[in-house]
Amino acid sequence: MLNTDEIAVREREADVRHFDAIVIGAGIAGIYQLYRLRQLGLSVRVFETGGGVGGTWYWNRYPGARFDSESYTYGYSFDEALLQDWNWSEHFAAQPETERYLNHVVDRFDLRRDIQLNSRVVAARWNEADRLWQVELEHGERYRCRFLITAIGPLSADTLPRVPGRDDFRGLSFHTYRWPQEPIDFTGKRVAVIGTGATGVQVIQTVAPLAAQLTVFQRTPNWCTPLHNRPITDEEQRAIKANYPAMFELLRRTPGCYIHNTDPRGTFEVTAEEREAFWEKLYKEPGFSIWMANFRDVLTDPKANALFSAFVARKIRERVKDPAVAEKLIPKNHGFGTRRVPQETGYYEVYNLPHVRLVDLRETPIERITETGIRTTAEDHAFDIIIYATGFDAVTGAFDRIAFHGVDGGRLTEHWADGPKTYLGLMSVGFPNMLTIVGPHNASTRCNIPRCIEQNVDWVTDLLRHAQDNGITRFETTEAAEADWSRHVEELAAGLLYTQVDSWLTGINTNIDGHTVRRVLQYQGGAPAYRAKCDEVAAQGYAGMVLR
Ligand SMILES: Cc1cc2nc3c(=O)[nH]c(=O)nc-3n(C[C@H](O)[C@H](O)[C@H](O)COP(=O)(O)OP(=O)(O)OC[C@H]3O[C@@H](n4cnc5c(N)ncnc54)[C@H](O)[C@@H]3O)c2cc1C
Repeated sequence: MLNTDEIAVREREADVRHFDAIVIGAGIAGIYQLYRLRQLGLSVRVFETGGGVGGTWYWNRYPGARFDSESYTYGYSFDEALLQDWNWSEHFAAQPETERYLNHVVDRFDLRRDIQLNSRVVAARWNEADRLWQVELEHGERYRCRFLITAIGPLSADTLPRVPGRDDFRGLSFHTYRWPQEPIDFTGKRVAVIGTGATGVQVIQTVAPLAAQLTVFQRTPNWCTPLHNRPITDEEQRAIKANYPAMFELLRRTPGCYIHNTDPRGTFEVTAEEREAFWEKLYKEPGFSIWMANFRDVLTDPKANALFSAFVARKIRERVKDPAVAEKLIPKNHGFGTRRVPQETGYYEVYNLPHVRLVDLRETPIERITETGIRTTAEDHAFDIIIYATGFDAVTGAFDRIAFHGVDGGRLTEHWADGPKTYLGLMSVGFPNMLTIVGPHNASTRCNIPRCIEQNVDWVTDLLRHAQDNGITRFETTEAAEADWSRHVEELAAGLLYTQVDSWLTGINTNIDGHTVRRVLQYQGGAPAYRAKCDEVAAQGYAGMVLR
């Protein structure tokens, strides 16, 4: 006999709406996945926590948020008319423009009617008997689907600093990811920014000229290099549009799908004069050229890396007037490019302004947030606004925030407790019919991300077409394939300089329990090799998977 609670559950389940596929997240990945699944004729629902579409470009509305991918390399490539119609205004567009672009895409392809906003997924349970996932939203609504696709983002689980008193502060305070919709007026305000990663750098250089007083709280300085952004001229616009096919072809060949390709020369294969001239040239070039088109060994040979780091340190010393401040801004615990390189516009010059102050948290850590500001071990600072640019529980964080129960109720967090275990970064043993776009272990998080998203989504779509055509209702990777892929990913990362450094790229985040041991989160073999492997798996009838 069922008790009344169980009867109520059964009754509710009887009305649970069914979709062929559910996609979680309406960022670049979720939007494109919806578009592609529509083409298969599947019924699809996208659930999105936010009140709008765009993911990263919906949430990160802080002043100064913008690309460090060239705008035209970042937009979707799947529709020629879209490419020709859309005009990017700058080489590195700012957040409002990208949010407008993604809304334009959603409307242009009539995708909005299948996207349910303000709908956070809190749990997903696999039902073996029916071969279905049951998906549960924050407010209790439930849905069922055959295929579950996560498009929840590599940088969508924001983290605040582990300091007491945050709720005591009487002024305004925001995490950069949770920036309000309405503009914030900084005029006459005393502003604190905690954090000097890529986001911190963007916000600091933008807010500095607006605020009455700006205090930057820095724990780890990063190697920042100039973005050299500028508007796209009409002539450039025409050239960009005429050149799209060739550009996308180039992006398919570079390791990170950027327009920058590694210089084949070694650092010590050229004369000191040639080396210096090359580095001077890179420092003047826009975007990630300096990171990705540098000598081939700068990110792998400690000596080459140290020499290039010394070059960038010299630049910082030239730009910051106070030598003591310059020294604080120069990283001492990692070499150039081993953490995410922030791209800047006048960032270092900010510290020459009389109303800007740098507080080194290694010397004077924060003790607590107070009603009026921030207390360090040295003093009390008073503020009107505190900005937390303290980043994300990267790559796996959004997965940890959903209770995925796979076969026999097994939890994904447990399966990944010692680091992610995946096949192709797209699936895991015990989680049938579930696919992870931009998941750990795939090439996307080392990529000009939309390029890798399109590859992930196209591959997933082909798999679902294959399932549809062949009456397959269940697929899952094998333990052997998962173990081989996970080992391969670990081997590719071994020995790379970045693996010896604490950062979100290695899964370190001292603001979260259990994130103090470095993990390999990314596939380091480059996007072309990754794509070739995925294609090979598909060509072999989805080798490494059991389909039935
Ligand atoms: C400030 C900033 C600048 C960046 N610049 C670049 C750049 O120049 N080039 C580059 O390649 N990458 C850049 N990135 C990385 C960026 O995240 C990716 O380029 C891209 O936006 C990822 O798209 P996505 O769809 O995978 O994830 P997201 O854009 O993060 O979208 C994921 C969505 O899933 C939703 N979601 C998560 N969990 C749930 C849940 N449980 N239920 C419902 N919805 C959920 C989130 O709300 C979010 O809207 C930048 C990131 C940041 C933060």
